[in-house]
Amino acid sequence: MANFVLQLPTSNLRSISVYASSNGAPPGTGSQNGGPVVLELPLEKIRRPLMRTRANDPNRVQELMDSIRQIGLQVPIDVLDVDGVYYGFSGCHRYEAHLRLGLPTIRCKIRRGTKETLRHHLR
Ligand code: ADP
Repeated sequence: MANFVLQLPTSNLRSISVYASSNGAPPGTGSQNGGPVVLELPLEKIRRPLMRTRANDPNRVQELMDSIRQIGLQVPIDVLDVDGVYYGFSGCHRYEAHLRLGLPTIRCKIRRGTKETLRHHLR
């Protein structure tokens, strides 16, 4: 199984790592420079503190389910990594679509955050 790592330079001279593997599995490496990494996370590893406060549009979820079933997830959801605990605040429809499709993992763009970042999201 071949793995490819594409390093894209960004304007602030950090770089974004985009991983692709032929079997969809994460390559098992984290970011070497603190930038975001894209990899598959098990759904149950992502805490969603605001899930009960925001209702998803069921039609959008259904459309995403149909599309993801056909062509897969095209844009990863954003996830915050605070001391090894993953938090999702957006991507709610994509997350629910994965749940309802019974998919075990979801492709995530993971950024490191501090407890202060987390508090900001929870405000
Ligand atoms: P969410 O709450 O997940 O952000 P939205 O309806 O606001 O839901 O946005 C759906 C997002 O999902 C869009 O940014 C779209 O580009 C992305 N997306 C990723 N994969 C797919 C797919 N297979 N079909 C349709 N949209 C997709």
